[in-house]
Amino acid sequence: MADDKKRIRYCSGCGKQETDDEPFITLPGGLCMCRDCMQRSFDTMIRMTDGDLSKMAPGMMPYPNMMPDTAAGNGDKELPAPGGEDAPEEGGEEKEEKKHYNAPPMGFSMMMTPEDLQAMLGGGRRAMTREEREKAREALPKIDMKSIPAPHRIAEMLSEYVVGQDQAKKAISVAVYNHYKRLANEDKEVEIEKSNMLLIGPTGSGKTFLVKTLAGILNVPLAIADATALTEAGYIGDDIESVVTKLLAAADNDVARAERGIIFIDEIDKLARKRNATQRDVSGESVQQGLLKLLEGAEVEVPVGANSKNAMVPLETVNTKNILFICGGAFPDLTEIIKERLTEKSSMGFGSELKDRYDNERDLLKYVETEDIRKFGMIPEFIGRLPVICTLEPMSRAMLVRVLKEPKNAIIRQYQKLLEMDEVDLEIEEDAYEAIAEKAEKKDTGARALRSIIEQFMLDIMYEIPKDPNIGRVIITRAYIEGTGGPRIEMRG
Ligand code: ADP
Repeated sequence: MADDKKRIRYCSGCGKQETDDEPFITLPGGLCMCRDCMQRSFDTMIRMTDGDLSKMAPGMMPYPNMMPDTAAGNGDKELPAPGGEDAPEEGGEEKEEKKHYNAPPMGFSMMMTPEDLQAMLGGGRRAMTREEREKAREALPKIDMKSIPAPHRIAEMLSEYVVGQDQAKKAISVAVYNHYKRLANEDKEVEIEKSNMLLIGPTGSGKTFLVKTLAGILNVPLAIADATALTEAGYIGDDIESVVTKLLAAADNDVARAERGIIFIDEIDKLARKRNATQRDVSGESVQQGLLKLLEGAEVEVPVGANSKNAMVPLETVNTKNILFICGGAFPDLTEIIKERLTEKSSMGFGSELKDRYDNERDLLKYVETEDIRKFGMIPEFIGRLPVICTLEPMSRAMLVRVLKEPKNAIIRQYQKLLEMDEVDLEIEEDAYEAIAEKAEKKDTGARALRSIIEQFMLDIMYEIPKDPNIGRVIITRAYIEGTGGPRIEMRG
């Protein structure tokens, strides 16, 4: 009802009219403002108070170009009231020709405290003061190692969801366990080094999935960022600290919780130094450089409730010292570099007959050394800050079949549950599992391909089966997967 008579709102600062593309910020007292004016006002306030908004005195709220309606020659009673939500309805008449300046917000700044202002700008939240932050840090319970599962337990819990990748699970479990020991350690003399991790494995081998599952088990906030989106500050793209902003959001803006969280940076291999680059490298090596201080531990100021820093949002200081960073990447040509090194070694002296020994090796990644990663294009300081390196194996057909069957929340199990609600059994023949895995293998995206393949053939089943209440069982066959036949249907009774 109110929609078709959408009210026209004018900026309290410059008087311009609101558009759908640029919605205005609603202020208390039935006022509204365009983003430019809001930014300008805020800048002025910051200047006037030397950056300390608590010094803001009533009456200091500056409004550029603000003129009362009368001063603008529009003192007419028919003018729309200053365009806030609380303003009285206009009866639907468009008053576009009456472009005007709204009445000055009499006493507006008196109605607002600096906290209100920050809360309004920060999406309802306000930044903590330093003391509050310290208190929140102290209030967070100390890490009790008894409550952290031992590495073998973490690995077991991971195995409920993640198939194979035993070596990676082991390495991750130990690294995480040590990370928490480090947090619990109160001995200032022996400081335990941070156990940031680098996960190397082909697409769809479960890197992201492992980290997500881990964060779930430990019940800590997790942020997943893509390294390709990151650029040096000042260039188009997300600046490096945006990864911390994401973590803060994942922790519901609770700084103390965020400071014990996990940040996963995917596609880290895309930051490799570009060979023969002629232009300034803003997205590769310099981002690696920029990440160094975060990985090591630094205090960063991040905006709350937004993903870019500007005067419109409050900032929080987050210390990354206790944040566990996990970087992941497929490192596509790394195997060549590894092979080169290995064959070079083996072609010397007596071992020379072994020259082609590694040609058929499926999982060359497991031989990786930091030297290879450096050759790939990661800078030594960066590699040095990721002391735990673990590799994931490429998904074999047998592993793909296991991914279909074993995890607690395997996709097939989810469909079985869905059909169970229609009192229909869903069965997949052993040979059909193989056929799905074969199809996925061809796509060369590891386990990632499985979901789309399954969704494709399950769509018809999910649509057709509920039509006939007499159907009691559906059996998926290889022929159905390959498109040469249908599923086998069995009736009830
Ligand atoms: P990447 O290694 O490219 O980060 P992902 O972790 O995103 O791969 O994997 C994509 C999807 O494939 C996951 O959401 C998960 O469902 C499935 N998957 C991948 N690897 C495994 C695995 N080892 N065990 C179980 N599921 C897996």
